[in-house]
Amino acid sequence: MFRETIHHPGGVTHGHANERHAVSILTRAVRRGYAVEATPSGGALITWTRATFGPTADGTIRADRSISLEPFTPVGAISPTTRADLALIGGDPHAHYAEQDGRRVISGLVWRIPAFTTARLRARSLITEDEAGRVRLTLTARLGLLAQAHRTRTTEPAGWHRPSAATPYGSAGLNRPGRRAGMLHDGGSAALCACGGLAGYGSDRAEARRLTAAHRREVTTRFITEHLAAPLATA
Ligand SMILES: [Zn+2]
Repeated sequence: MFRETIHHPGGVTHGHANERHAVSILTRAVRRGYAVEATPSGGALITWTRATFGPTADGTIRADRSISLEPFTPVGAISPTTRADLALIGGDPHAHYAEQDGRRVISGLVWRIPAFTTARLRARSLITEDEAGRVRLTLTARLGLLAQAHRTRTTEPAGWHRPSAATPYGSAGLNRPGRRAGMLHDGGSAALCACGGLAGYGSDRAEARRLTAAHRREVTTRFITEHLAAPLATA
């Protein structure tokens, strides 16, 4: 279950969303081209701007809207061991609950997760059992795994610094408009992701942050399109 918070021109609306409802909110948002970003706690933030006709200079009113989905049970940090267990469960359509020495375990075709770990995965709401008796990952677990695999950062700009002797054309910078007492200014900032799939560079940190946000939205959109937007889903 998620706490749903909707920001709209009339104010803020709070509600609850179960997993099925959350999936439909996310797939609809992607279809409409809204920005969707998974959060490390296992939720998601959807943002978009709605333009309507109004009495402004260019004849439109633009309003920022958002929907935030926050899980009742945040996933917390996922250790490599837990990630491996979740990969086993998520990758095996035969994963199901079984009993071993009177305790509940998760069993796949060729593997078994011990009772203690099974209890912990359940307590953390990382797994659930569907109608067909299959044990699968919760939406919260999948969003949390995604966001935690794509933790991004931007580097501190060098700022004012002395031209390095090692830099070719070292003194050329002294004649640039940006010089200050022989110093060079470098506001550039790199945009990086833990997945290794992002190597962006912004002329300043704000631009680098836009690059990391765009990357997180891109991977979330791809996840929703490939894994949540089932061909059966309509409208
Ligand atoms: Zn990434």
